[in-house]
Amino acid sequence: MEKLTNYIDGELTPPQNKSYIDNYSPTTGKVYSLIPNSDERDVDDAVRAAKKAFNTWGKSTKEYRYNWMMALADAVEKNTRDLIVAESFDNGKPEWLAETVDIPRCVSNIRFFATAILHFDSKSHDMDGAALNYTLKQPIGVAGCISPWNLPLYLLTWKIAPAIAVGNTVVAKPSEITPYTAFLFSQICKEIDFPKGVINIVHGYGKKAGEAIVKKSDVVSFTGGTETGKIIAKFAASQFKKYSLELGGKNPMVIFKDCDLNLAVKTAVKAAFLNQGQICLCGSRIFVEKSLYSKFKESFLKRTKALNVGDPKNKNSDLGAIVSKQHLENILSKIEMAEKNGGEIIFGGEKVVLDGKLSTGYYMLPTIIENTKNTDEINQKEVFGPVVTILPFSSEKEIINLCNDVKYGLSATIFSNNISKAHRIAAAIDAGVIWINTWLLRDLRIPFGGMKHSGFGREGGEHSLNFFTETKNVCIKIENGGNK
Ligand code: NAD
Repeated sequence: MEKLTNYIDGELTPPQNKSYIDNYSPTTGKVYSLIPNSDERDVDDAVRAAKKAFNTWGKSTKEYRYNWMMALADAVEKNTRDLIVAESFDNGKPEWLAETVDIPRCVSNIRFFATAILHFDSKSHDMDGAALNYTLKQPIGVAGCISPWNLPLYLLTWKIAPAIAVGNTVVAKPSEITPYTAFLFSQICKEIDFPKGVINIVHGYGKKAGEAIVKKSDVVSFTGGTETGKIIAKFAASQFKKYSLELGGKNPMVIFKDCDLNLAVKTAVKAAFLNQGQICLCGSRIFVEKSLYSKFKESFLKRTKALNVGDPKNKNSDLGAIVSKQHLENILSKIEMAEKNGGEIIFGGEKVVLDGKLSTGYYMLPTIIENTKNTDEINQKEVFGPVVTILPFSSEKEIINLCNDVKYGLSATIFSNNISKAHRIAAAIDAGVIWINTWLLRDLRIPFGGMKHSGFGREGGEHSLNFFTETKNVCIKIENGGNK
């Protein structure tokens, strides 16, 4: 059985305790590799290497970092095919999705921040000629970057790239559920001889390796569940460490009767079930204006029924496998609970058993639930699977209340051809990311992040670069200066 390694100080190293965790492919339900069960000692080694590397990388020129990052992006791109196959096998997502979203996005994350650093500037404040203030943006030190399993390499590089672009060094941990592409990424770093200690990757459980990274790094960037976010916030705050949290969501899709119905249905299906519904931005509560409700439902149901759950290697599979057995059971139990509370499953709600060696994989039907109340658990708690509810609404006032009556505030999507109404609703919804007549259209420069229990801070473009730097003001008095 293949044993993955950590990547510390430019070397592929086994965990000090020689202990490993089974790595399952959700496509077959079988263990296919072993992950380092790293502990504090491995994190100590990684932090030591990162601190040493910070002495040079942190003082290097922007052009030097740009050149290395562009070389890294090129090398990742050269390995695209292997990364696609590995991401799909490790996570369960269809290969076409890894090919169109995950892996190209890793490459653009690195290129985007490599070039962004060349244009990153800071302000100066002139005091009417009597003095001049200027702002320095300096790297902080060792950045702890912790990411989840749903977009494994995509989200890991979304953190590593801005952190190193501004001159920090990194200790990163991918999810223990989907470690494989991070391992391939560390092999690529080694192959191109990326400066030692700038990027370190430590595998293992969150409670052990993850907590040690939070404790020992100088700044923490985390994407994952809200409950884990609370633990990290508590610790980082007590140490006055800078931290950013990208957490869960319970995102509304609002369909007004004056929308382009065909576009709304097509997009709502994608927003509900892409990546098996395991994207933090998925629209899981679909609110439809009463007079359009039955028409929308009929069309949404028809399109959902036509989706294929199948072999992730097959181009025609719309949905692949759910990430783990435990997560699949969790999703099914939440559906059962919704049914007990009076919800009606109008489609799905069950496992799918595929043929041959996929028969032991973790597959399920996309699921639509009707007749729920917004206050039901199914509409209040994140399911993070291919499960949506459809609910009617009657007025602007009602829909704003329904959207906001959850603890989360990550994203929302509005479908309407009345642009003034769409703007009004967008301004009134508590969410950090709002789409109108589209979904998941991403520009890497925009502020990305959530309100309420969906997170703290914003990522993307200058927001990431600012987050990973310390801001310092320098004030110079100008002798005999000053406007009269
Ligand atoms: P998770 O919180 O269980 O784990 C995320 C990462 O944190 C993993 O690497 C894990 O090992 C680590 N971790 C766990 N406990 C830790 C601890 N005590 N200290 C430090 N690290 C710890 O989340 P998950 O199940 O992997 O991911 C699913 C969640 O991520 C969902 O809630 C989803 O909405 C959220 N998510 C949010 C965004 C966003 O941008 N807002 C994007 C993707 C996923």
